[in-house]
Amino acid sequence: MSSYPARAVVDLAAIRSNVRSLAAHAPTAQVMAVVKADAYGHGLVPCAQAAVEGGAAWLGAAQVSEALELRRAGVGARILTWLYAPGAPLAEAVVADVDIAVAAPWALDELVAAARSVSRTARVHLKVDTGLGRNGLTRDALADVLDAALRAQAEGVVELVGVMSHLAFADEPDHPTVRAQEEAFREAVAQVERAGARLEVRHLANSAATLTNPGAHLDLVRPGIAVYGLSPVPQLGGPGDYGLVPAMTLESELATVKDWPAGGGVSYAHQYVTPRDTVLGVVPIGYADGVPRHASGTQDRPGGPVLVGGRVLGVAGRVCMDQVVVDLGPGARDRAGDRVELFGTGAGGGPTAQDWAAAAGTISYEIVTRVGARVPRAYVGTVDGTAPGGHEALGTHEPAPAGTQEVGA
Ligand SMILES: *Cc1c(COP(=O)(O)O)cnc(C)c1O
Repeated sequence: MSSYPARAVVDLAAIRSNVRSLAAHAPTAQVMAVVKADAYGHGLVPCAQAAVEGGAAWLGAAQVSEALELRRAGVGARILTWLYAPGAPLAEAVVADVDIAVAAPWALDELVAAARSVSRTARVHLKVDTGLGRNGLTRDALADVLDAALRAQAEGVVELVGVMSHLAFADEPDHPTVRAQEEAFREAVAQVERAGARLEVRHLANSAATLTNPGAHLDLVRPGIAVYGLSPVPQLGGPGDYGLVPAMTLESELATVKDWPAGGGVSYAHQYVTPRDTVLGVVPIGYADGVPRHASGTQDRPGGPVLVGGRVLGVAGRVCMDQVVVDLGPGARDRAGDRVELFGTGAGGGPTAQDWAAAAGTISYEIVTRVGARVPRAYVGTVDGTAPGGHEALGTHEPAPAGTQEVGA
């Protein structure tokens, strides 16, 4: 077991299986597994490798640094990066054979200069804003950038291989903006193709559109959250409804178990007061580990759910930096060292990242991406049973051994 009293156990077999499920949802498209934000908190390189093993031909990295890290780790899939500011190491990315999205006129200028400087051809995807109102070329900018890109292509400096866009309401498949964006995307693609580009991939679908909107699949789908087994549309269906298995289990163990009297305040500001004589359990994981403080609990509103000794209990009182407290109930027999699960697959009614999202008023994406850097990631479900480089391997999902030394309150 790790010396740190909490860990995120990541099941790479679940990631492989989720990618296969996503490919089955989009049989006419290739899959780009989006691994931005350290693979949504699951660990960039091991998850990227698992996604490729599951059949992802492409990997999506928002940041250039992530794309470069994947190449340094020897990942061989096509990699696309799409979010960077002026001065980004684009020449390095071109040399590393990374596809690069262009979302602004300055970006094409910098990319052309970068490719020239290393005497290489940059593969370009034009990222168009079809109505999201975020990163992407406006209609006017597209016309200018397209012109410049085709001139650079004639000189062999760039190769225009893709057009991409991103939906504002993919999680509401019937929202009128979805059709409008699809139509705007078709027009942008037609404009690019009329100008003479021979595109390899047109891509628009994130996880939600991959699972719920076949019309948006086109040549390539770009799922992120679903790769990690979480539902992008919790109001429509859970992971199981889409053939997905949550890959991350966040677990800790009880550090202290003690009696506490009726009417006793619990944690900062006594936001929770015990309704009766009871037993409290202290779990050494807090908001510095990514447990959302917004999921603190009061008597009227239980905090984020934790699984202890086969029952699901809400966090009692404030979530602290390094710890949370659970009201284990009168006469509880739990012991220091007993395993505590904050979220996992949800099997058998266990708590999920989605439950924490609901408790904190956010989305599951934020729950998993915020798991703190200090929380060790442990990998299970590797293909050959060995751990990915530099990471602790766990052979099993077993709880920590009982009787772990009690630590001070
Ligand atoms: C993050 C992102 C995705 C993946 O989104 P999910 O909702 O996690 O599937 C796809 N495309 C782009 C451009 C993104 O930024």
